[in-house]
Formats: sequence, structure tokens, C-alpha cells
Amino acid sequence: MEITEKITNTDHEQVLIGHDAASGYHGIIAIHSTALGPAVGGTRFWHYDSEEDALTDALRLSQGMTYKNALPGLPLGGGKSIIIGNNKAANREALLRAHGRFVDTLKGRYITAEDVGTSPADMEIVRLETQYVAGLLGGSGDPSPFTARGVFRAIQASSKFRWHSDDLSGVTVAIQGCGHVGYNLAKLLHESGAKLIVSDVNSESVARVVDEFSAKDVEPGEIYDVPADIFAPCALGGVINDATVAELAVQIVAGAANNQLAEERHGEMLRERNILYAPDYVANAGGVLNGCIELLGWDAAHALRKVDGIYDTILSIFESAQAQGITTNEAADRLAEERLRRGV
Ligand code: NAD
Repeated sequence: MEITEKITNTDHEQVLIGHDAASGYHGIIAIHSTALGPAVGGTRFWHYDSEEDALTDALRLSQGMTYKNALPGLPLGGGKSIIIGNNKAANREALLRAHGRFVDTLKGRYITAEDVGTSPADMEIVRLETQYVAGLLGGSGDPSPFTARGVFRAIQASSKFRWHSDDLSGVTVAIQGCGHVGYNLAKLLHESGAKLIVSDVNSESVARVVDEFSAKDVEPGEIYDVPADIFAPCALGGVINDATVAELAVQIVAGAANNQLAEERHGEMLRERNILYAPDYVANAGGVLNGCIELLGWDAAHALRKVDGIYDTILSIFESAQAQGITTNEAADRLAEERLRRGV
């Protein structure tokens, strides 16, 4: 009952729950909007405490994809899917194939790709069951370096807006999460002369960034109040919340994680503390933009120009938020909603 209520209380077009008895597959596909085109969004393979938690994630993430795709004017809608369970399961291949068959039932209303817990190699397995999949090894491949480049451009734009210069040399950035995106972001920041403070629950991931990019490491719980200029969340969602907003000792929050604000009101709390927030789905759109090589037939140079264009998009959102006296997340949402209304 709670689950049915949760679905009917959203404005999602379609939410499906799939089972495959043979493999034990249990998955969700959430289509938020196909107003601008087929719903595009990755497959998250994750263990959740309950189906309801997984559904909440799918609903939020798919809506985020609608906004992420609408903002740069892509003819794509928003969706997301979840394989519920241990992503290191011994029968991983059977689960991915069952997921592919589930995706295929929608006949292109939803196109998937990799996300947390899945890889381009996994998408090759999904491809055995459906053509509605992007991010393949032989296609646009791993989106993370492009996501990192977009986040880097968002950080430069934030620096420009806040400090009137996008030169990051000597600027201290605290990165939470040294995974695919965090690592690539650390590399770009190090090359531009920034100082890095990093944390990860995985000690090997931290050690690599410390060794390669002269970063200083702190315990995972210490990353929120470590003195720095910029906080870059590149691990989990919901990290900007009642507890952490008060702790932050930075002037800018700009990172890759989806749904960084636990709730919309935390954007207002950041604004009250005069912390500039680069809206997550704008900053982390680089992977999707690069995926347009496969999805929309773009050439690589055009895709890269669009990724770099995140700089201008972020700046215009900051300017619009300032002019209207609203939060930056609200300004981004208004722009995306306007594009959805206009159908472009
Ligand atoms: P990833 O799984 O490769 O890396 C995430 C890292 O965060 C891991 O190393 C993990 O150990 C670490 N982590 C988990 N909990 C932590 C904690 N409490 N404190 C510190 N570190 C913690 O994932 P990724 O591909 O690098 O993506 C990172 C984030 O960016 C995710 O939220 C993802 O949804 C978002 N994102 C990624 C892409 C992409 O192209 N990969 C695109 C858009 C958004």
C-alpha cells in the first residue's frame, strides 16, 4: 500500500517492478518523463534495506534525469532503473540479462546505461537482450572522465562567480569519494594547481589519489568540516543535510554525486550560509552529454564542447538565481521546467 501510494503521489509517467524467478532478479524501472524524447538513465545495481528505499531512489533519480537531459536541450526524457541486490552476486550475468529483458519490454521508451554498481562491460551483457542500451565498451564507453570534466568546469565557473577568477591554483578542494569520477576530478584539479583533501571508505581508492596527486587524506566523517575552499561530493546522495550544512567550512559546493541535497530546503540553508551551490544535475551532466555520441550520433568534438559548456550553463544559473533572489537549485529547476513546457 505504501509503495502504491508513493508511486501515485509522484508525477512519474510509469513505474514498473520486475521479477525473474529463474535468476532471482528483482528490479525497478522508473520513467519520469518522455515529453522530450525516450527516457534515458542508467542502471543502478545496489543493495537496499527495502524495496521502498529502492523505489524512493528510482523515483528521485529518474526525475533528476528528466531535468539533467532537459537543461542542455537534449531531445531525451528521464528514467532510471535499479537491480536490487548484491552487485557482486555470483549469478551477476544472469541478473543483468534478466534486467535487459525487462528493459526490452518497453521497446525504447526507456534506454539504459551504466550507473553506480554497473560498468560498460555489464552493458555489453544487457545488450545481449535489448538494443535499448548505451554506454557500451565499443560505443561512448565509461562516462566518468567526462562527468569529471564537467564537474571540473562547474568548479571553475563557481570560482569565477565567487572569486572573479577561474584560476584554481592554490585553491583547496575537499573531495568526498575517490571512485571513478572522484579520481578523474582529482587528476584535473591537481593539474590545475589545486590542493586536495580527500576521503573514501575504501582505503585503496584514497591511497591512489594521495600518491598520484599529493592529496592529504582525512577520515570519511571528517570531510564535512575540514577547512577548504570547495567541497566536491563525489560519493553518495543526501550529503547536504541538517547535520552537515552547519559543519561545512567552505564557500562552494560543487561535485558529481546525484541528489546531493537531502531535501530542497537544504539549498536554502546553503544560501543562508553564503555557500554557493552548483546544482548537481547540471554539474554532473558530462557523462550524459558524452553518451550522446551513441544516443544522438554526435561526433566526439561536439560532445566535448557540450561538456565544456557546463561552465556557461552554471554561470547563467548563478546569475539567474542572484537576479531572482532564489536558490541556485531552484533557478536550475525553473530553467529545466521551462524547457519541458516549451518541449525543447
Ligand atoms: P564510484 O562507485 O566509482 O565511486 C564512489 C566512491 O565513493 C567509491 O570509491 C566509494 O568507496 C566511495 N564512498 C562510498 N561511501 C562513502 C563515504 N561515506 N565517504 C567517502 N567515500 C564514500 O561512483 P562514481 O561513478 O565515481 O560516481 C560518484 C557519484 O557521482 C555517484 O553519486 C554517481 O551517482 C554520481 N554520478 C556519476 C556519474 C558517472 O559518470 N560515473 C555521472 C553522474 C553522476
